[in-house]
Amino acid sequence: MKIFKTKVELKSYLNSQDEGRVISFIPTMGALHNGHLSLISQAKQNSDLVVCSIFVNPTQFNNSEDLEKYPRTLDEDLRALRYIKCDVVYLPAISDLYNENEQVKQFQYNGLDEFMEGKGRRGHFDGVATVVEKLFRIINPNIAYFGQKDIQQLQIIKHITKQLNLDIEIIGVPTIREESGLAMSSRNKRLSESDLEKATLIYKTLVFIKENKYKYSVEKLKDFCVEKFERHADLDLEYLEIVSLKNLQPIKKYNEKGDNVACIAATINSVRLIDNIIF
Ligand code: AMP
Repeated sequence: MKIFKTKVELKSYLNSQDEGRVISFIPTMGALHNGHLSLISQAKQNSDLVVCSIFVNPTQFNNSEDLEKYPRTLDEDLRALRYIKCDVVYLPAISDLYNENEQVKQFQYNGLDEFMEGKGRRGHFDGVATVVEKLFRIINPNIAYFGQKDIQQLQIIKHITKQLNLDIEIIGVPTIREESGLAMSSRNKRLSESDLEKATLIYKTLVFIKENKYKYSVEKLKDFCVEKFERHADLDLEYLEIVSLKNLQPIKKYNEKGDNVACIAATINSVRLIDNIIF
């Protein structure tokens, strides 16, 4: 496995590859778990060279405590990447990607950022899009893999890739979960056993929505689920939205199968978790 710390070395290595090799790219912030590894496994099946980046991108955090406490487990991450035979790892320092005092770029998202993460975490998607564009331009992959766990991010990346006219196929990969149903997340590392158990309410609620969509209207189902959270004082619900997968706008009536997504963000012991279900 090749490890590069600078874009200059990484680019020169990628440029030395034979033309026609299919390059896949998986951007991550590290503290890798089986969710990340499933993106890499899928990339390995569909390409000749798999590049993974580990970079905790400061511009996408709007909460300095969240950035500071973000788990960093580089040695374990590299062990896991070697084990699954990732070909190339890019570990940039902040200065390799950003100039001093550089501001994030402003993107147009066609309303995809209006609700959920875009509403609760102002500037978050400009930070994500800024770093993903930089990484795309350095690596110039044929395919990039993103998790459906961050469904709004996935849709936004598909949108800006088109907008920037980049010839990169964006593939969304289903969410990998713990046995309890809890979506795997680097932030789960900050939770105690008892918090992990309590956090399962998030996925249970999403499944409940999927299974009860014909029994209740969208509004009733939302109200009912919000009440469920109110009965669990440890879990602070930030939002519960049912939106169209295509435009991420809240729906009043269910769309056709596969175009409805229920999305939740909730905080437990200062750890913010998100999850969603497509139905
Ligand atoms: P992160 O390191 O959190 O920025 O995530 C890097 C990539 O892994 C993103 O595309 C995430 O959507 C994806 N990812 C994170 N958690 C999961 C999961 N549980 N299942 C599948 N993909 C995931």
